[in-house]
Amino acid sequence: MNALDSERIGDMLLAAGWEHAEKEAEADLVLFNTCCVRDSAEKRAIGRLTLLKPWKKQNPNRLLVLCGCIAQKDGADLLEKIPFLDIVIGTRDYPSLPALLERVAQTSERLAVTEHIDSQIPDIYIPRANKSLSAFVTVMYGCDNYCSYCIVPHVRGREVSREKKSIINEIRALAKSGVKETTLLGQNVNSYKDAESGADFADLLSGVNDISGIERIRFTTSHPKDVSPKLICAMANLEHVCEHFHLPAQSGADAVLNRMNRKYTRDDYLNLAARIRAEIPNVVLTTDLLVGFPGETNADFQETLKLCREVRWDAAFTFIYSVRPGTAAAEYSDNVPLEVKKERVAELIHLQEKISAEKNASLIGEILEVLVERASARNPRDLAGKDRGGRTVVFAGDAMLIGKIVPVRICRSTAHTLIGEISSSPAHQITTPDTQKVML
Ligand code: SAH
Ligand code: SF4
Repeated sequence: MNALDSERIGDMLLAAGWEHAEKEAEADLVLFNTCCVRDSAEKRAIGRLTLLKPWKKQNPNRLLVLCGCIAQKDGADLLEKIPFLDIVIGTRDYPSLPALLERVAQTSERLAVTEHIDSQIPDIYIPRANKSLSAFVTVMYGCDNYCSYCIVPHVRGREVSREKKSIINEIRALAKSGVKETTLLGQNVNSYKDAESGADFADLLSGVNDISGIERIRFTTSHPKDVSPKLICAMANLEHVCEHFHLPAQSGADAVLNRMNRKYTRDDYLNLAARIRAEIPNVVLTTDLLVGFPGETNADFQETLKLCREVRWDAAFTFIYSVRPGTAAAEYSDNVPLEVKKERVAELIHLQEKISAEKNASLIGEILEVLVERASARNPRDLAGKDRGGRTVVFAGDAMLIGKIVPVRICRSTAHTLIGEISSSPAHQITTPDTQKVML
């Protein structure tokens, strides 16, 4: 989401007459787009910003801007804390950035603008400079779920869906400029609703599926409590919607899920995963898991490990809980010692890596459809791309294939990568029920 915001801010500045600087030394303006979902992200962002003090000192006409979630959270306090910072701009105030930059350049004022968090972001059309194969597209802003650990609703504001018409027009323009894959973004895309037509997320997917030139459609993120049978059916039937469901579980213990305010139980999650697997052959299921939530006992953690063995996700992002100011969980005592949190996350990663490696190994011999993205970072004679499930596939091939979809037979695998060779037969994957079990 932040990567897309940065890209859109860049587009807006290009439209206002700015140019891209290759290096800091050449720049008249540096913008930091920040995340505060965990304390570590926040510390890193402020640390990086502080390194620009000499850059600003060298030429006081240079402008330094902080935007994104930290800006929204701390507003004008940041101007006091960081005396060489010029502008702080909130998550829904970007449209005024070009005008603010002009004003600050003329008056040398220092400004914090964060007051539009409760407003609708106007859907002004700014041409996208995106010239790559893939593009993110925002379908909704904000979040109304208030999971007790999460700062996102506090810094991204209330949930607002963009107009379906406007989203479709944006993706049509992207397709015309060569984009083949789009990822629809929202904190909980399942609650998307177009105010004008009443279209829900499945209807939106169907509209995007009809856009000529878009070969792959992905989306993130889905809250398990809001996955509808209609959405599963749309994923199963729409040709261009990829078979990848990112479905954050967070924990496997009902007591923890309840205190997290997630509004589902481990059984609900298991039933949902089974339903998705029954209806979407070869679906790739991935998740987010959060360890060390206040009051998480060892027995609760064992439930998370058990859920991991039962669902057998293809991959998981694992996080150590970090207290976020203003959230409901900040009132609970953060009583799991850091050492224990670290041990738990290491055990969880170890188990998940084993499962990911087993699942990838089961693909050896299969032929997958790969959208070729780039030369591989490890060996420039190899190409890297993604299959429909979002798995990284590496194979030897000519750079002319970049941007094409090619069938690749999988020969080897690791926990994170599939290694293969171009196949003369078309892609086909045998649907094998996921019955392997792992015991650690
Ligand atoms: N809207 C998405 C998640 C956005 S935040 C969803 O509901 O899934 C991405 C991930 O960061 C979350 O899934 C959660 O696992 C993690 N996260 C959120 N708040 C956190 C916190 N306080 N400490 C550690 N991880 C956190
Ligand atoms: Fe945060 Fe929960 Fe909203 Fe995701 S659904 S952004 S975890 S509050």
